[in-house]
Amino acid sequence: QVTLDRDKTYTIATDTTFAPFEFVNKKGEFVGIDMDLVKAIAKDQNFMYEIKSVGFNSAVQALESNQVDAVIAGMSITPERKAKFAFSDPYFDSGVVMAVAEDDDQVTSYDDLKGKRVAVKTGTEGATFANSIKQKYDFTPVAFDDSDSMYNDVKTGNSVAVFDDYPVLAYGVKNGNGLKLVTDKEKGNSYGFAVGKNKNADLLTAFNTGLANIKTSGEYQKIQDTYLKTDK
Ligand code: GLN
Repeated sequence: QVTLDRDKTYTIATDTTFAPFEFVNKKGEFVGIDMDLVKAIAKDQNFMYEIKSVGFNSAVQALESNQVDAVIAGMSITPERKAKFAFSDPYFDSGVVMAVAEDDDQVTSYDDLKGKRVAVKTGTEGATFANSIKQKYDFTPVAFDDSDSMYNDVKTGNSVAVFDDYPVLAYGVKNGNGLKLVTDKEKGNSYGFAVGKNKNADLLTAFNTGLANIKTSGEYQKIQDTYLKTDK
């Protein structure tokens, strides 16, 4: 039984730019799959919330220090994070992939990273993966706070490659971000909505109930189609 505080405005932290999950559209609105999911679920479950677009690592740290009630940011449900946070049911499958500049025909595999710089985002599954193979392939991960900065570093040639989530890089490449994918997707964890451990259990239950409801109603599929449907 959910006993949400209906007078409270829950604060939910997110990444700054992680299309198609959270990003600013042409009208200057903050939109994306995560944003639309929360909106639909809050409506279904009747709670008020406010989005704080602070960046991925800052969002996770804000949750850890109880400065926000929850995080939704294409946040992977990892075993390490489960020690600190409670996650909703998974709502999107992901994985990590490598991309290089569109016009680069030199770097086509991890072997070609030898002696080079590779862009990663602080505190992410992509960064963890890059760090796990950096010795084997002899490259240097360079950390950024947001995806746009990583992609720019590759486009200007400072880094030769970037590791980021497959659904995000694939969407970016399709929308002409100037990069291309060169490796197969590495297995990663699905995304979940996170709250502090033993905190906001009601909010988590409401999220799960709302998620199930919008799956049944077809709204969840509609949200995904808004951003991902490619029958052009
Ligand atoms: N899914 C990745 C993670 O949780 C990256 C999330 C992000 O960059 N917003 O680590």
